[in-house]
Amino acid sequence: MPCLFDSKIAVVGLAMSDSLPKKVRIVEVGPRDGLQNEPEPIDTEHKLAFIQKLVDAGHTHIEVTSFVHPKLVPQLVDAADVIANLPKFDRVHSALVPNERGLDRAIESGIKRIAVFTAASETFCQKNIGMSRSESLAVYAKICKRAIVAGLSVRGYVSTCFVCPYEGEIAESVVAETTQALLQMGVDEVSVSDTIGAACPTDVQRVLSSVLDAVPVDAIALHFHDTYGTALANVCEGLRLGVTTFDASSGGLGGCPFAPGATGNLATEDLVYLLDRMGIESGVDLLRQAEASRFMSKILGHPLPSRQLQRLDAACGN
Ligand code: MG
Repeated sequence: MPCLFDSKIAVVGLAMSDSLPKKVRIVEVGPRDGLQNEPEPIDTEHKLAFIQKLVDAGHTHIEVTSFVHPKLVPQLVDAADVIANLPKFDRVHSALVPNERGLDRAIESGIKRIAVFTAASETFCQKNIGMSRSESLAVYAKICKRAIVAGLSVRGYVSTCFVCPYEGEIAESVVAETTQALLQMGVDEVSVSDTIGAACPTDVQRVLSSVLDAVPVDAIALHFHDTYGTALANVCEGLRLGVTTFDASSGGLGGCPFAPGATGNLATEDLVYLLDRMGIESGVDLLRQAEASRFMSKILGHPLPSRQLQRLDAACGN
């Protein structure tokens, strides 16, 4: 049963500043970035039902799985099955691809969009993917070339763009260079990521100013974690700088198995509430989004950290 307040959110949003975008795109990463961290196996049918609920909530871009080696991330061993059984509709799904073998599996699966990932921090790159930053870029150049020839589009992630758990503050010039290198090899969008959730708006301003000197703002997405409670503040700084694509994870699912101390991703409900309240269109319905998160929370057998989800459940007696 929706709360009275929620039915009014869309219409009470204050007139926004002309400098803010009127519309943003959310890339929902819960089925991949969220579920990869769960300790218990999840049935493929439950993942598919979750994805369907995300679609029902209005999501148009969903990262559904990963072709990382099943030994590293056993939760996503069913990547091909998930893709083969995705509901048929006009939506953009993507899957993470770490190497050429992963690309073979992705092409075979029929998915039309992949994502590759490197890191701005050398130490994190080594620990996360076992390659230096420049080695990873050489591998992804080959992957992009093959993917594009095969008719796939490619998204890129750059981890640890603000603060690294091993190296501390990251130089903005490295983030700009890495972003530019990915775009030059055919990636169409780079998700500038705060892997440990330690950034605050001044970090976003520092790093993005340098990135946006090098590449167009339309090619940039932002991926925040809420470890220190600064994710939404960072989104606001991103909006102010003209970014119109934000990653978020249903209910705040997930962290990063290779980043000590990294808790949940920015919760989709929390982002949707902020955008609704600011009068910025995302196309995602807050209450239906919350239903998708509740469904997955039940399957997982534990609550999810989204503040909006907790508020809705408390206020509505669910
Ligand atoms: Mg994440």
